[in-house]
Amino acid sequence: MLSRIVELSEQIALRTNPERAVRWLGQIPTPALEAMRRARFKRTLRLAAKRSPFYREQFRQRGIDVRRIDHPSQLGDFYTTGEDLITCGAEQFLTGHADTAFETTGTTSPVAKRVFYSRREVADMGRITALWLYLLGLRRDDRVVSAFDCSFWLSPWVLRAGLEYLKCFHVEAGKINPEEFYARARIYNPTAIFGEPSWIIRLSEVASRRGAWSLKFLFAGGENIAESARKMVEQIWCAPLYLNYGQTESFGALGAECKMKDGYHRNDLYFFFELTDVDQDGYGEIIYTTLARDVMPLIRYRSSDVTRLVDERCACGVFAGRLGKLRGRCDEMVVCGMGNIGPWVFEEVLRGVEGVGGDWQVVVKHEGPRDVIELHVEADHGGGNSSIEKSVQINLGERFADFWKNYEMRLYDLRVVNHHPGELRADERKLRRLVDERQMLKPSRMLTTASSL
Ligand SMILES: [Zn+2]
Repeated sequence: MLSRIVELSEQIALRTNPERAVRWLGQIPTPALEAMRRARFKRTLRLAAKRSPFYREQFRQRGIDVRRIDHPSQLGDFYTTGEDLITCGAEQFLTGHADTAFETTGTTSPVAKRVFYSRREVADMGRITALWLYLLGLRRDDRVVSAFDCSFWLSPWVLRAGLEYLKCFHVEAGKINPEEFYARARIYNPTAIFGEPSWIIRLSEVASRRGAWSLKFLFAGGENIAESARKMVEQIWCAPLYLNYGQTESFGALGAECKMKDGYHRNDLYFFFELTDVDQDGYGEIIYTTLARDVMPLIRYRSSDVTRLVDERCACGVFAGRLGKLRGRCDEMVVCGMGNIGPWVFEEVLRGVEGVGGDWQVVVKHEGPRDVIELHVEADHGGGNSSIEKSVQINLGERFADFWKNYEMRLYDLRVVNHHPGELRADERKLRRLVDERQMLKPSRMLTTASSL
């Protein structure tokens, strides 16, 4: 009963104006919120068990009676993985009528993960996002220009739904060349700019040459960013750059930064968060269960991202707990200026390149604000890498349009480094294919990503 009252007041709050909604939601006492989350969890679990072929079969095989479960941890070692989505197909997870779908690039495979939603879910997530933007200072008289990639990607949709609620002016540019964006966006006098971090870094470089204008803030999603690069962006615009953290599978923000920029405030209304494989510092992989999804709920979804849960009150005063800064990914995907890359990308790029024989390894690093992708190859005859580099570029352009587009926009540099045969594996029996040397990653965690031929 309590949970139903809280749920109703939340729904009413989200249908009023942002100012009132923020005030109402902030007044819900923690125990009442917790009761609502539990009730939503139980409802989600029952829905999944009844309608999703994947979950029905999984629960049957494991002898799980969902009527007896009222907390995710009672599901023991049962998790949903990205691999499940790929191998079983998104249709196996459906519990209701879908109006739309989005995709996310594969991590260890070239197959995209597909996730389905309803328009009601899009609108709800938009409102929650809007409340957050309101807390960051976005108001009805603000002017937003965004540059999110619109191809199969959800971010432009969530943002648009949110800005409809806030009722502010909005132009969607798509992910175009930052030089072109600069010239065309300026005429609209934007007070807030949205895009991916590596793209915003490039735009800021353009602005430092051609002049920045007055902004309330910049907002980035889709990748992590080095603090030094964030500082550079903020100095150029004299405005803060905020990050959000989300996945296509979660449909938008699992959490977003507040003005303190010290971790992401969690969206506890829509997700149940847990950590697994926790190390002695309290860091582990984030697991989330969706609480407000009717079309394709996910139960204990493994995010592959490593962080910690922070429940101490934040200096900003917002009641919601936080996810700490991300330490890295525990699968083999690296998110950088090139895009979401995994070893399979480079296997494909090197396919058919003459003169490359043995091993290869990719090192992702920072040089200044830009990501550099260093492709180390063992050349048949050592030395002379210009023809290999040329072939790599041709293959990249022909086989990966998105990565090539980001290259042409100079969101990253690509370099080929030649080695003699046998040199790369000299010190390591298992050669890590992808090494992320950027500062936000923790080396000990990367060891778990070792792969072999
Ligand atoms: Zn805060």
